[in-house]
Amino acid sequence: MNWPETRLTIDGELVAAEGGATYANIDPSTGQEIGVAADASPADIERALVAARRAFDESGWADDVALRVRGLRQLDAALRDHMTEMTEITMAEVGAPQAACDVAHLGEPLKFLPYYADLAESFEWTTPLGIADTVGGPAERWTEREPIGVVAAITPWNVPTQINLAKTAPALAAGCSVVLKPAPQTPWSALALGRLVTEHTDIPPGVFNVISAADPTIGALLTEDPRVDMISFTGSTATGKTIMRAAAEHVTKVFLELGGKSAMILLDDLDDVSGPAMTAAFGTALVCGQGCALSTRILIPRSRYDETVTAIGELFGSITPGPPTVEGTTMGPLIDLRQRDRVEGYVQSALDEGARIVCGGARPEGLDGGAFYLPTLLADVTPEMRVAREEIFGPVLVAIPYDDDDDAVRIANDSIYGLSGHVFGADDERALAVARRIRTGTMSVNGGVWYSADVPFGGYRQSGIGREMGVAGFEEYLETKALARPASGD
Ligand code: NAD
Repeated sequence: MNWPETRLTIDGELVAAEGGATYANIDPSTGQEIGVAADASPADIERALVAARRAFDESGWADDVALRVRGLRQLDAALRDHMTEMTEITMAEVGAPQAACDVAHLGEPLKFLPYYADLAESFEWTTPLGIADTVGGPAERWTEREPIGVVAAITPWNVPTQINLAKTAPALAAGCSVVLKPAPQTPWSALALGRLVTEHTDIPPGVFNVISAADPTIGALLTEDPRVDMISFTGSTATGKTIMRAAAEHVTKVFLELGGKSAMILLDDLDDVSGPAMTAAFGTALVCGQGCALSTRILIPRSRYDETVTAIGELFGSITPGPPTVEGTTMGPLIDLRQRDRVEGYVQSALDEGARIVCGGARPEGLDGGAFYLPTLLADVTPEMRVAREEIFGPVLVAIPYDDDDDAVRIANDSIYGLSGHVFGADDERALAVARRIRTGTMSVNGGVWYSADVPFGGYRQSGIGREMGVAGFEEYLETKALARPASGD
């Protein structure tokens, strides 16, 4: 087999883009071209949309749970058989080290397909509501759940396979057809899924289509099209707003996973800060800080601020970024030089506003060409600074002092975002009570991990609308139909 796959998937076939157009795929750890991907045109999007619409309306996929379960299990088996290729792709186009592939990028996401195959099998598609005396006399009522239709899945580059599967697995299990449009920086991760579906499953032609393109905004065509029934989007809040506006034209359902600026609160009864320090270091290293759910604000009691900042800085600063191909690397590069420029701009803004660098704050030595940046801890940060309010999406933590629990909760909640967070404290119940007061979709207490195929993930406020994963992440792709018929009087 010749991997990586560079062709689009449209209507059950692996095809070149119109006119054979391609664009360069760049390795973020070297800045070098590693190959090409099909560069889809609006005509390719049109072909994918026609196929997805026809597959949903006519192929029988939407009504055949057994076929869907079989297709998902076949895709799961194919994916497991191609883990080596998927890992190579993820290392090459994301810059992810092996350890990150084993966990965040591929290891955990491998559980999504079997989880949704099982759920489709056991799901209560029909719910009886009993007989009631209605205005029209006695009636038997019930609900049936139906797939919503054609789904446009638009995904970012930070954990591409994880997000591609978190959308695709429930959408397919629900009976939808899909047009997957990945970020231009990570086409191969998505095109590979198209190939596995095409070559290894009974999923009918047109049910699963994949479109890669150099133009990041080409997906706008999907968001404006009345043949799309739902837009499932993960990315920046700015793009999420653009998509909501486009979707309003045809009242298309939107499901949005957007940015975050989550807080990690260290309560004043905590003696040992190695737990939070490890959590911050591990999370940041795993995806070079490019994770929407990472806690990037650390809230520390004012009375213990200096000692805590020093302890966290020592561990955080000991992580050395490097190319994923070098054995033992735990932290890779940012996705591209543009993203590194953005991170550098944020660190400079913090210095301009009076913050102090505890560790990092620079590019590592000897890694020219790659988009590397040292893990950076900023101290003396106030909640008003840009680095405390905006999503940096890089390996930068900000340490903010607070006065008491109420103050910590106020600072944590003073954000346009509401995605996730942590609370660490010696008293579990007190930590849990604080966690309950934080307005976010997920919270970890004393390092407990919520991330799992069966746990719904999503945000409050401008972090998004809806939930991904779990039963809630399945029901996003379903409509509810209520039915009734006259009941006999006895
Ligand atoms: P982005 O919003 O620029 O792009 C995301 C996707 O949307 C890409 O596929 C891009 O090509 C596409 N896109 C861009 N403009 C579009 C338009 N007008 N219409 C339709 N599609 C369009 O984000 P990014 O730079 O790829 O990713 C980084 C951001 O994503 C960060 O802000 C991060 O917080 C967020 N993110 C959120 C989550 C989450 O689950 N909440 C996960 C990962 C990333």
